[in-house]
This record gives sequence, structure tokens and C-alpha cells, in this order.
Amino acid sequence: MKCVEAKGMINRFVEKKLSYQELEQFLQHVEQCDDCMDELDIYYTMHKAFDLLDTGTHQNYNFKEMLDEELHMARRAVIMHRASLVLRDIFFAGIAILALLGLYFLFIH
Ligand SMILES: [Zn+2]
Repeated sequence: MKCVEAKGMINRFVEKKLSYQELEQFLQHVEQCDDCMDELDIYYTMHKAFDLLDTGTHQNYNFKEMLDEELHMARRAVIMHRASLVLRDIFFAGIAILALLGLYFLFIH
């Protein structure tokens, strides 16, 4: 992924609107690209600051920590999604094997 693509995804990342596939590519890029990570940091901080102004809360927030946490959760979501796809494949493979065994015992035995 190029920087221009990653930067184009920043607002959708912050609003949690990326697909799993986009999210995976986006995370891979920003984790290796300081420039895009800086831009994500700035956009995220501004977005959250405006959110907090809207809600009128006046606590101290550590935006860097919040972003790190969000990136961590996003990484986990991508891994869980991949695992669910693998489990789904295993599940359907299991059903296919059972179906074949069923046919085998029905017609050949
Ligand atoms: Zn970049």
C-alpha cells in the first residue's frame, strides 16, 4: 500500500469503517511508516478532542495511549477475523467429509 492510499483511509479507520481486508493492509502500512503514523496520530487526536468537546467532559485524556489501544484492538480484530475464516473452512471441510462418509456408507456398503 502506498502512503497516499493509507492517508486516504485514516478518517475511515478512526470512524471504524474499514473492512477487515482494508484494516489489515492499513495496519501493516502505518506500523512501518512513521509519516502515516504521525498523520494518524494527529487526525485521531483532533477527532477525539472534538468528540470530547461535544460531550462536554473535561477530564485529562492521553490520546497517544488511546490510539495505541485502538491499534491494538484493531490488530486483534483482524487476527480474530482471520481465525474465524479458518475455523469456518475447517467446519465446512468437516461437513464435506461427513457427507462423503455418509454417501460411502449409503451406497458402497
Ligand atoms: Zn505511509
